[in-house]
Amino acid sequence: MNTLRKSIFIIGLLAAGIAGALWYKSSFQKAAISLEALKDKRNIVPIAIIGSGPAGLNAALYGARAGLYTVVFEGKAPGGQLVGTSYVENWPGIPKMLGAQLVEQNKLQATTFGALMVPETIAEVDFSVWPYILRTEDGQEVGALTVIIATGSNPRRLSETGVVKGESEYWGYGVSSCAICDAPFYKGKRVVIIGGGDSAIEEATLLTAYADKVTILVRGTQLRAAAVMQARLKDNPKINVLFHTKVSEVLGDGKVVTGVRLTDTQENKSYDLETDGVFLAIGHLPNTALFKKSITLDKLGYITLKDRSQRTNLPGVFAAGDVADPRYRQAGVAAGDGIKAALEAIEFLQEHGFTGTVAQKLEKNYYDSTPEANLIDLTPVTSARQFDDLASKNSWVVAEIGAENCASCSTLLPIVRSVGTKLADKAKFIYIDLTEQPKDLIQRFKLTSVPAILIFKQGALIARYDQQLFSKRELYTILTALIAEKV
Ligand code: NDP
Repeated sequence: MNTLRKSIFIIGLLAAGIAGALWYKSSFQKAAISLEALKDKRNIVPIAIIGSGPAGLNAALYGARAGLYTVVFEGKAPGGQLVGTSYVENWPGIPKMLGAQLVEQNKLQATTFGALMVPETIAEVDFSVWPYILRTEDGQEVGALTVIIATGSNPRRLSETGVVKGESEYWGYGVSSCAICDAPFYKGKRVVIIGGGDSAIEEATLLTAYADKVTILVRGTQLRAAAVMQARLKDNPKINVLFHTKVSEVLGDGKVVTGVRLTDTQENKSYDLETDGVFLAIGHLPNTALFKKSITLDKLGYITLKDRSQRTNLPGVFAAGDVADPRYRQAGVAAGDGIKAALEAIEFLQEHGFTGTVAQKLEKNYYDSTPEANLIDLTPVTSARQFDDLASKNSWVVAEIGAENCASCSTLLPIVRSVGTKLADKAKFIYIDLTEQPKDLIQRFKLTSVPAILIFKQGALIARYDQQLFSKRELYTILTALIAEKV
């Protein structure tokens, strides 16, 4: 009886919870959409795009080209995943181009038509009122008449699919998810790649330019990669593929990776494989945390779209690219999604009476992000002696470690410069470029991957963040906690 009551109670609670959640989501649809609401509103944007990968940039191109004021909030990884890809050879009309270059051209095309790129991250959204509210990390509030969510996805870690000892411990010390950033560190060494998709093959091929031996570890019995990608493996003697092989532990000497513990699931046999680097290529997770309260997601966390459109469950809110695409996840497809989303946003605005005349009247109320003027420059440091000299004159030194072909290093640079501007009176901000391989600095600070942020107090290293991207607020919070409070 007791158990029955308990079950009824739990079922009741669940039902109430589901009903509550449904009510919560459906209540958003009641936000009144009327141009009347715009009269006294400041900081409004007819088309606000969150994210600046191919989906966001091509939505911006179409929005701006239609003559609508279109603002892209670039987020903490401007350009998205393409920036970290080497050559792209399947973008329609362009036989071969570096991912970062493609992004640059796409951005230029959109801005030429008047799209505004804002180097800010949206930290919060409120879709219960219209215009929809987007809040930047810097606390600016934007009233968006339409929103295109193009926040993409991020590389998965092994720990997201089950705990694998050593993955976190050696993150940045041999474990990486960015071959293009870190491949040069593996000259003459052995590396493994986990995964069997297109990324795994692409990374393997890229790594063979440096490493002596590349082993792809595939958990199943076949590769998921496209046939054309698999063909690349045939003529490459440096690459070896091990099937039905799971990684159960990343091994190391306390400082860097030395191997992986593997299980051959067919033979049910466990053994260790020596390696200097572990590269993850095991898929992606959609960036939807910001929207899960109000936007309908599928069971994998991707945004659910209506029919064959880019419409979400909320009127005037669209999604494009990998954030809503668990299936194709191609830059070209994301670009097409972005175009569709912009066309639908334009149609939505027209349907609600947003004409050229209305736009003209509202122009004075448009959001205008002030470009960041007077950012400090990071002091370039090329030798240990120069570092010691600076450290003796400054209690705190914050170093960005970068390299020439590392797109995420360039992404991090304006963030470090911006935060550095705010904290210039508390710390010296420097840049160590590994392109020329400054041996004394590499050895002294054990620099094994880029980008990295190293923080020094009185010349002693007190914190380091290898292979991490930050938003301005994240980096500022970390530094103020370390520096401002302890100074
Ligand atoms: P995919 O999802 O295609 O492949 C992920 C791979 O990782 C699969 O082989 C999967 O195994 C494996 N995997 C997942 N979790 C684990 C785990 N915990 N342990 C071991 N292995 C695991 O991801 P990709 O990043 O390769 O590709 C994403 C999309 O991007 C695809 O659509 C791809 O076509 C595209 N792409 C295109 C490129 C190009 O054309 N130049 C380059 C790179 C990507 P299993 O198969 O057993 O599930």
